[in-house]
Amino acid sequence: MRSKSVVGNWKLNGSLASNEALLKALLREIPRQGPVACAVCVPVPYLAQVQGLLQGSGIGWGCQDVSRFGKGAYTGDVSAAMVAEFGARYAIVGHSERRSIFGDTDEVVVAKYTAARGAKLTPIFCVGETLDEQEAGRTEAVLARQIDALLAGGAGQLNGSILAYEPVWAIGTGKTATSAQAQQAHAFLRGRVAQKDPAVAAALPILYGGSVKASNARELFAMPDVDGGLVGGASLVAEEFAAIWRAAGPAQ
Ligand code: PEP
Repeated sequence: MRSKSVVGNWKLNGSLASNEALLKALLREIPRQGPVACAVCVPVPYLAQVQGLLQGSGIGWGCQDVSRFGKGAYTGDVSAAMVAEFGARYAIVGHSERRSIFGDTDEVVVAKYTAARGAKLTPIFCVGETLDEQEAGRTEAVLARQIDALLAGGAGQLNGSILAYEPVWAIGTGKTATSAQAQQAHAFLRGRVAQKDPAVAAALPILYGGSVKASNARELFAMPDVDGGLVGGASLVAEEFAAIWRAAGPAQ
């Protein structure tokens, strides 16, 4: 039985005032214990605020990227250990915006993943194809390249981590993958891991991300290989995010 999670990615959004309002509203919706993990990945300057508001609640928190380095002359970087000091549990790595805007290569993403695990954070390793790649029928080739970069270090390092399938054409576009498309990609990814280690593959949570909304979440999350969601825009609205979280649990 795999654990289910719904994780919000705030991206470059928030302020002290708006974070407080959002999290207080969310705390009214998410119980301390439930069948589905709930978390928010926030901009690093807000980690202390988020820790203060969420400590002891049913909502976890994390960051959206980490340095691949531990310490030293890397101006502007934030290490995984620094993030962990604020009680963070999760670190997104390899988000398509990091890959496309900031040039994170597969090699860099794997190094960030390793750094996150080294600090006992749970990495959320993102993979996904662009529209051009999808239209060229290259979805599986791209996913294979991205996941193989990680598997080259052994499937064991996926133990306790989370994978997220995020088709780039669906992120922030309002265009969601159909549940069948999501299932196909998730099954492909799980199969790829299973070729190395069936037990690790069976236990690996794979989240879907890309314009998840309350209105499409239940259908997506009902797919056998979809274990919850990574949610961008909709995670900035407490009622919407809570409804998505509920959609990953048993039907009411
Ligand atoms: C994301 O940022 O990971 C994401 C999936 O964004 P959105 O839900 O806005 O498409």
